[in-house]
Amino acid sequence: MSFIYKISHISYVAMENIYDFIVVGSGAGGATLARELSGSVRSVLVLERGVMEVDVGGKKNFSRYVDIVKSLEGINIMRSIMAGGTTMISAGCSVRCIEKELLKKGIDISAELLEAEGEVGNAPLHENLISERSKTILKVSKDMGYSFAPMPKCYKDGCDGCGLCMTGCGRELKWTALDYLGEAMENGASIEYGADVKRVDKRNDGIFEVEVSREGKDESFFGKRVILCAGALETPLILLRSGIEDAGTNLSVDLLRHIYCFIPDSDFKTEPPMSIVDTEFHEDKGFMLATNINLSVVKKYIDSQDKEFPYGVNNSIGIMVKISDCPNGRVFPNGAVSKDVDSCDLMKFEEAFEIVKRIFLAAGADPVHIFESHINGAHPAGTAAIGTVVDEDLMTKTQGLYVCDASVFPAVPGLPTIITIVALAKRLGKHLKSKV
Ligand SMILES: Cc1cc2nc3c(=O)[nH]c(=O)nc-3n(C[C@H](O)[C@H](O)[C@H](O)COP(=O)(O)OP(=O)(O)OC[C@H]3O[C@@H](n4cnc5c(N)ncnc54)[C@H](O)[C@@H]3O)c2cc1C
Repeated sequence: MSFIYKISHISYVAMENIYDFIVVGSGAGGATLARELSGSVRSVLVLERGVMEVDVGGKKNFSRYVDIVKSLEGINIMRSIMAGGTTMISAGCSVRCIEKELLKKGIDISAELLEAEGEVGNAPLHENLISERSKTILKVSKDMGYSFAPMPKCYKDGCDGCGLCMTGCGRELKWTALDYLGEAMENGASIEYGADVKRVDKRNDGIFEVEVSREGKDESFFGKRVILCAGALETPLILLRSGIEDAGTNLSVDLLRHIYCFIPDSDFKTEPPMSIVDTEFHEDKGFMLATNINLSVVKKYIDSQDKEFPYGVNNSIGIMVKISDCPNGRVFPNGAVSKDVDSCDLMKFEEAFEIVKRIFLAAGADPVHIFESHINGAHPAGTAAIGTVVDEDLMTKTQGLYVCDASVFPAVPGLPTIITIVALAKRLGKHLKSKV
């Protein structure tokens, strides 16, 4: 708890209550920064709106982990509000994105990417963990000239492919930001849970006051520098409330949908989500493909059919299409989010559908029952972009106020984001340490 006293209308904060760095959020960006800075600087405080993972851990239910923000136009955008952030519900895919676009902005993170991959892991999913479901697609698509391959994953030894990565991996065999957060705390960083950061105010004495709401009460924490890592839907909100008016536009979410089919006489076993991937269309056509299945969607489809419907979930194969969507979204100062699917997005989905349908048919799918799921969003990004809201050192126009999460992406990722955010945070950590 911070200690403030007032003399003649001026608030003074005792020196011991002023942190060198306050990091807001403990997801991909925040936990990495806390780890990079702790141990090297005197004091680091992490303010995390969510709870510690163990409070909800073990519940094998995705809905307990995911926080869905519905856009004004009806698109569900997924994220997670808890210690570890959205890395808790990730599929554990470890793929680089926007490396070229960052280089164009003069930002070379090649060294940090290698460092991050070394620590987090990016080994292609082991063949033993890929079930016949994805192996069927691997074989058929290869014969057709497509480039599916095992997905690079940040799994640790011992994973048996139970497929529950996106419910926090109760067995802790997937890298999450909690791994880095734990190290940060061992290095002396402090953390406050349930701390919903609302606003950041730079006072006349140069100290930042971070205004927090916790259990209905207002609190303040004080720091010399503040780094916002609250994710691309929340960071712009904090920036807007803090007087950074150009934040919040340019929102992309990597729109995605699944295409499903049923293969007669099959009995597919469980496998990790997104076991195999094809990124060959990413640059030219703006989409990627990965096998993935949302069992509840398939069950719903089966339930909507006649009683004699000949297939069950074990006959189904799903391929997820994820596109580099048009960054036409926006976060408004009242927290509302606008994000729609435009005609350009629909064209990408249509082109991907034709390819996936051909692969399914070649795999022997029943042509009558190939169906698509709703369109959702999974990777909010770009709302405090480099070159618009922050500079190459990720600093806003307010000296000492930084952003380091997917908000700073200067381009739509269209691919998994975590390893790139971790690398950006490592780069910023080095830069800040050199300044201190
Ligand atoms: C279902 C799903 C699967 C995914 N799978 C993958 C994958 O396999 N590989 C991959 O690379 N990417 C994956 N992603 C994307 C990736 O997880 C996110 O893009 C990434 O975690 C974003 O990092 P971030 O630092 O921007 O935000 P987050 O990781 O979301 O961290 C934000 C943090 O800020 C906290 N916070 C929010 N608001 C406040 C506030 N007001 N005050 C204080 N704290 C606050 C949150 O609780 C959270 O801890 C997936 C995303 C989803 C939804």
